[in-house]
Amino acid sequence: MSEDLGITTSKKENIGEWYREVVTKSGLADYTSVSGCFVLKPLSYSIWTTVRRGLDKLFKDIGVENAYFPLFIPDKLLEKEAEHFEGFNPEVAWVTRAGNSELDEKLAVRPTSEAIMYDSYKDWIRSHRDLPLKINQWNNVVRWEFKHATPFLRTREFLWQEGHSAYASKEEALKDKKSVLDAYQEICEDRMALPCVRGTKTQKEKFDGAVNSYSLEHLLPDGQAIQGPSFHYDGENFAEAFGITFTDEDGEEKNVHQNTFGFSTRQIGIMIMMHSDDCGLVIPPRLAPTKAVVVPIYNNEEERKSVLGMAEEVNEKVEDCRIDNRDHKTPGWKFNEWEVKGVPLRIEIGSNEVEDGEVTLVRRDTGKKTSVKVEGIEKKVKEELEEMQKRLYRRAEEFMEENTRETEDYEELKRIIKEKGGFVKAPWCGKQVCEDIVKDDTKAKITNIPFKYDKPEDKKCVRCDERANHWVHFAKSR
Ligand SMILES: [Zn+2]
Repeated sequence: MSEDLGITTSKKENIGEWYREVVTKSGLADYTSVSGCFVLKPLSYSIWTTVRRGLDKLFKDIGVENAYFPLFIPDKLLEKEAEHFEGFNPEVAWVTRAGNSELDEKLAVRPTSEAIMYDSYKDWIRSHRDLPLKINQWNNVVRWEFKHATPFLRTREFLWQEGHSAYASKEEALKDKKSVLDAYQEICEDRMALPCVRGTKTQKEKFDGAVNSYSLEHLLPDGQAIQGPSFHYDGENFAEAFGITFTDEDGEEKNVHQNTFGFSTRQIGIMIMMHSDDCGLVIPPRLAPTKAVVVPIYNNEEERKSVLGMAEEVNEKVEDCRIDNRDHKTPGWKFNEWEVKGVPLRIEIGSNEVEDGEVTLVRRDTGKKTSVKVEGIEKKVKEELEEMQKRLYRRAEEFMEENTRETEDYEELKRIIKEKGGFVKAPWCGKQVCEDIVKDDTKAKITNIPFKYDKPEDKKCVRCDERANHWVHFAKSR
């Protein structure tokens, strides 16, 4: 295999460069002539499609329907959203000309769709009978970031879903919080093999337009945290900005309560970074479009015939399988190529195997080789894929556990952040001033207030002497 095709950088030594090599050499994504914008090639688009189908099905159970709103948002609508919009303003891309004429009003290329959607919601929602309204869009958004772009993780245009729902009361809105977070967690853990920490964002770190934000946080192999999908309870904030009111059963006019929630192609980047290795991409089997590749090995025409015959037989039995029968490539070259591309199982068939009615299965994640009878191979393949899926999750979970360290001492917190990274579990009073000081001292922020921890009893804040109200995770974050 030539240098060009193999991964030349080690994950441990330079994770950024390694990641860029894995993404491009595996055929997931490619750079384009537009800075910060990437091509999702068929391999990653197929992974995204599977994720999307899974999530869409879970949304249906919550009563969420899909719709599509325009890509362009008039300036005046964005202004209405001033409080929320402030965070996006420097990143908005504008259309000011069409053909040879200047537009009367400049149009934003959507950075997110609150403004355009809620302008319709205010007309659609009149009475309590119009509620709840639960609409989702699968679309693309543009945020013209100036930070260094990285495929999937930070791109100027990306794909996502944005859910926007409206309810008659706060209680009803918050009822969907758990269902949506459950759906996100199921996709992250069961499909992408990504463990996560569910929790509440602090007021400092929440989404601008929200009353409260909730997130799934992941820990990357370099010890940095990264936010996964998130859910926001927006209260009446957008109802007030856009005038979304309804007449209740008692004839009274009230504001709607709203939720927004999103899941983006960034998750694919997190998944790649978590599971892949120095040989290339590793895809959790449930998301791999090709689950097994048969590599026939032969030295002459007679062997070729019998080996390919058996390859066909295997290919018919095994789901999402393909045969690499290119004559101009050696088996060794093919092994490497499929490793880089992250196909979960390789099935080797040579003339010895044909004689014994057996093939050799090779796992992408462990390199483990197993001889398997062709008779009943489909069952064995399923078992190996299932075992691989579970192992990837387990390994990522162990990594997260090993890199979550608890302390109540501020000097130790600083030392852990500096020397080890990962999550630091610490008691916090709840005041932003302490959060700010920790960030100034260490560059670590509170990723979230994990649901899984009980309230601390008789603990002092890690930063000040006041009583602690929460156990939180501090981490340096991407
Ligand atoms: Zn404090």
